[in-house]
Amino acid sequence: MEPSKTIHYTQIDRLSSRRPFSLMVKPVGGLCNLDCKYCYYSCVGSSHGKMSLEILEEAISKLIQNNDSQEISILWHGGEPMLAGLAFFEKAMEFEEFFTNRKGTGQKVSNSIQTNGTLIDDNWASFFRQNGFFVGLSLDGPKEIHDKFRQDKKGFHSFDKVLRGLEILKNERVEFNTLSTVNSASVGNGPVVYDFLKEMGSKYMQFLPVVAPNDPWGINANDYGRFMIEVFDEWWKNQDAGNYYVQLIDIALANYMGQESGLCQFSPVCGDVPVVESDGMVYACDHFVNRQNFLGSIYDSADSLFYSGRLPVFGIDKFSRLPKRCKFCNHLNLCYGGCPEHRIVPLENDFEINFLCEGYRDFFDYIKPYLKQMSNHINNL
Ligand code: SF4
Ligand code: SF4
Repeated sequence: MEPSKTIHYTQIDRLSSRRPFSLMVKPVGGLCNLDCKYCYYSCVGSSHGKMSLEILEEAISKLIQNNDSQEISILWHGGEPMLAGLAFFEKAMEFEEFFTNRKGTGQKVSNSIQTNGTLIDDNWASFFRQNGFFVGLSLDGPKEIHDKFRQDKKGFHSFDKVLRGLEILKNERVEFNTLSTVNSASVGNGPVVYDFLKEMGSKYMQFLPVVAPNDPWGINANDYGRFMIEVFDEWWKNQDAGNYYVQLIDIALANYMGQESGLCQFSPVCGDVPVVESDGMVYACDHFVNRQNFLGSIYDSADSLFYSGRLPVFGIDKFSRLPKRCKFCNHLNLCYGGCPEHRIVPLENDFEINFLCEGYRDFFDYIKPYLKQMSNHINNL
């Protein structure tokens, strides 16, 4: 069998040119008011404290000056980014306005923030609405599932505070989506979690598998695949297409139809969203904040940070380090081997394969006939 011929090679070429990029900004590094058991970032960048306004200004200036796309994205992330305080974010909006006006090319900056939601109050919600923020709310499902691993440092549950924050967002008509980890407490609960999120008003749902093979909160590949199939069945049964969006279904459909999925994990190459830590150090991805993927300081030139050296190599590595099993897999065009962070299962004389591989296979096997049906429908519109 030949490896798939329909890889988007243009995406690989793109990495060698001055492509547009987004920036993930960590205003307080990994600092957080919660202590979720499965957090991948709490041990990474928590020691630098809050980002200074000088670093913030330089990051926003670099992003706007060196980006020609009409819409430029900043993703505010943590830890818990809201710990930086409202005044910090108000200053960020001033910088965005100043640098876009100075450039004078009519570009817009879109802001998204990923938050655990426990600190949201009326002032924050009104700030989010006035500045067009898109809020990603971390909510794992109903109380018994959410509270299993999402607790604060004293072991108190967070569900009630998150729901209070969600109600405030809804009252203020702030646009939001939900990000739910799929962990050991989620197993067998796909429909329960999906229906709950719908009931909470989430129109766009992301499900993030917790890959932690040696920890009680980790999920195995088969359970993850089954969970996503359950979610898919519930979505399909309720005829929710067009009204409720499940990221993995959307991405699979885009990839199936030969479009760019827009999510790094399911693209041939990655590295479009470098991260600025609170001390101004820049890395290729927030899942690889380490010496090997260190790009430099935010004060270095944009060329050296974003267009040459480590970042393009990092992005292309996602493709060039695919094991043979992926290259010959009939789901390659949907999966692209997933995120390199999850490629931890050793294979003989080959690169490591994704820990979730079997779950992806099960899920893609299951939904392919439906993808065909949906793609035919879209093509006939
Ligand atoms: S390493 Fe994973 S999370 Fe990071 S950019 Fe690549 S695919 Fe995305
Ligand atoms: S990770 Fe598994 S499902 Fe994905 S492309 Fe590789 S072999 Fe196929």
